[in-house]
Order: sequence, then C-alpha cells, then structure tokens
Amino acid sequence: MVTTRTPLIAGNWKMNLDHLQAIAFVQKLAWSLKDAKHDFSSVEAVVFPPATDLRSVQTLLDADKLELGLGAQDLSSHDSGAYTGEISGAFLRALDVQYVLVGHSERRTLHSEGDDVVASKVAAAHRHGLVPMICVGETAADLEEHGPSAVPVAQLRASLAEVPADAEIVVAYEPVWAIGSGQAATPEQAQQVCAALRQALVEIAGPERAATTRVLYGGSVKSSNIASFLREPDVDGALVGGASLDVAEFTSIVRFRSHVGV
Ligand code: PEP
Repeated sequence: MVTTRTPLIAGNWKMNLDHLQAIAFVQKLAWSLKDAKHDFSSVEAVVFPPATDLRSVQTLLDADKLELGLGAQDLSSHDSGAYTGEISGAFLRALDVQYVLVGHSERRTLHSEGDDVVASKVAAAHRHGLVPMICVGETAADLEEHGPSAVPVAQLRASLAEVPADAEIVVAYEPVWAIGSGQAATPEQAQQVCAALRQALVEIAGPERAATTRVLYGGSVKSSNIASFLREPDVDGALVGGASLDVAEFTSIVRFRSHVGV
C-alpha cells in the first residue's frame, strides 16, 4: 500500500441506532479502540450515524476528545429554503461533520438519485467544506453487460461534473451485488476497479490529486477479510455497513494492521 494515503475505515450505520444508542455505542467503541491500543494516526476511523444522532455524537466526541471522525449519510443539493425534510451541508458543517456519503446505492435505487443529483450533492458538499465520500458501483447485471470497471468509472466522472478538479473527495467502490449480501468481491476484483478509478482521477484531476485521494472498497467487509483488501495497492480503506454496528467487529476492522501478514 502507498504510505502517503492514511487508510480510512468508515462505518455506515444506515437507519440503525437512535441518539441514546449512538452515545452508548460511541463510548464503547472509543474504549474498545483505546483498550486495543489503536494508533489513531495510522488509520482514520469515521462513523456515519443517522442525522438525528449527529449532534449527540459530535458533543460526545468533542467533550471526551475522542479521535473518531464524523460523517453524515446524506445532504441536500440546496443550501437553504423551502425543501421540507432536507438537510443542508451548512448545517452539517456547523456540527463539525467532516464527511458525507453521496451516491450510495441505496440512495440511487430507493430514492432514484441519478448521476445529476449525485453531482449536485457533491458540489453542495464541496461548497460547505465537507468531504464527499462518493459511492460508485455496478449491479450484477452491469457486471455481466459492461465488465467490472465501466459503470463505476462513468459514475465517478459524472459525479465530479460540478466541482473543481482539485476538490477533496474520497471514493468508495461498492459493487451493488456485494452490499449486505455476505458475498464480498475478491481482493483482486476490488484492486482492478479501484485502480481503474484512480486512473480516471489521473485523467480528471492530474496525477498528484489521484495519488493522494483515498479509494475505498465496500461490500460485505468484516474482520476476517479486511486485511486481504488492504494488502492491495489501490485499496485505501473500507466502507463498512453491517459489521460497523458491532463494537468488537468494527474495532477489529479498524485494527486491520494487527492481523497477520499486513
Ligand atoms: C454499505 O452499505 O455501504 C455496505 C458496504 O454494507 P455492508 O458492509 O453491510 O455490505
């Protein structure tokens, strides 16, 4: 792995844990990482709670000086106004949120968010000083029809249409067929697509930006397979769904360096 990119392990809680459960969970996670003597400077760990938990988690992180990053699961493409139910990037930034998921396959399929919506949300994140974690990935049908990289690369290019080339982003390659299925991609498959995404970044933003941008793999990551992904040169971390809701499991994923042979 290229050492200039700090690995990033992101936990997407989806619609799980209310704010009281979130407080208890983050306290336990912080203790568990401390207990395991985790070196926070060597791996960045970020949690993505539901929007109603963000204030509670932010207050806890701040008060106890916990070295966990904070991310949101979605944002509005608008800044303010008559958009009932939407959450502005400005409000997230005011809560010290650092990252925001954009283009997750559940938003793309369940909420019909196409490439144009994703691009405008990436732009909104950038406007408000949030780092968009841009999720891209092919369905099983896409894989059969177009091969492994075409759809994720096209989604990445489209998502960057409204931001300057030097905008800070994180890319998460999440094959739709691997999310929540228990059937992760192989490390070789993940490497192949992550390398293609990085090559696209070279073309869009230049070699320097491509070399410093983290490209994560996501889809049925757990403690037993994380190390195999992080051994690949273009995989810089993981976006974790189900396994991020178990303190011991998430701790073990964050501490992938302690696994044999990494
Ligand atoms: C996700 O939803 O981003 C995800 C990767 O889920 P899981 O880890 O449960 O497959």
